[in-house]
Amino acid sequence: MLGRRFERIAAAMSNPTAAAPAESIPECPHCQKPMPLCICDSVTPIENRLALLILQHPQEQDRALGTARLLAKHFEDATVRVGLSWPSLSKALGHPVENASHWAVLYLGSARAVDLEAEAEIVALNRKGEIADNQRAIFGKLEGVVLLDGTWSQAKALWWRNPWMLKCQRVILNPAHPSRYGRLRKEPRKDGLSTIEAAATILAGLEKRPDIAVTLNTSFERMLARYREVQAEMPELAPKPAAKGRSRDFRRRKRSHPAGVA
Ligand SMILES: [Zn+2]
Repeated sequence: MLGRRFERIAAAMSNPTAAAPAESIPECPHCQKPMPLCICDSVTPIENRLALLILQHPQEQDRALGTARLLAKHFEDATVRVGLSWPSLSKALGHPVENASHWAVLYLGSARAVDLEAEAEIVALNRKGEIADNQRAIFGKLEGVVLLDGTWSQAKALWWRNPWMLKCQRVILNPAHPSRYGRLRKEPRKDGLSTIEAAATILAGLEKRPDIAVTLNTSFERMLARYREVQAEMPELAPKPAAKGRSRDFRRRKRSHPAGVA
């Protein structure tokens, strides 16, 4: 009985077009999480030099554990778009961009920092997917960063459906620490980081501002702490990993295959 109810709520939360559960709980307009899971009131704004564009795959609707909107809430110059494809970077952003090559796209594809024997935490790749020459010059000219929010296969779909990304500077991460998700979520991204942790690494690194990473990671830890609290009191809002639906198991199975398809 109870299990079925959890499933229904989880399905409604992961699919906004499904009928809302009868006992509907208000949602935060900023992070779009059910109010008990929202930590927006404690977000410290960050003044960033680099603009942020977060493209979210429509199926990435893990509202309870997702981080894209919480991430965007920290910045004045951050845009979240939900969809599969946009004709150009300018269209995705909603304003003209002079030179797409001054934007980085964080996309792993077939390249993994460990395989490339990269030493830095942020690595710029060339068109062939090799470590690019003159990393410092590449990073110096960047004006913004595009993050693909979703699982590994969703990020891959976004990459292939938006050919304008080829004009951008492709970067990958070589994270020094494992994700703070721990056991709550198995490898949300192929580099194992949540979107907010990936942003923390890339923005702090490119802007040489360790405080950006501290602020974002602290917010993420607060979000996870709240999730665990809610798990104890209102488990239907914050299901334990074991209670997750089939799709999550499928993702996990897929991701255990060796890397390197794209
Ligand atoms: Zn919120």
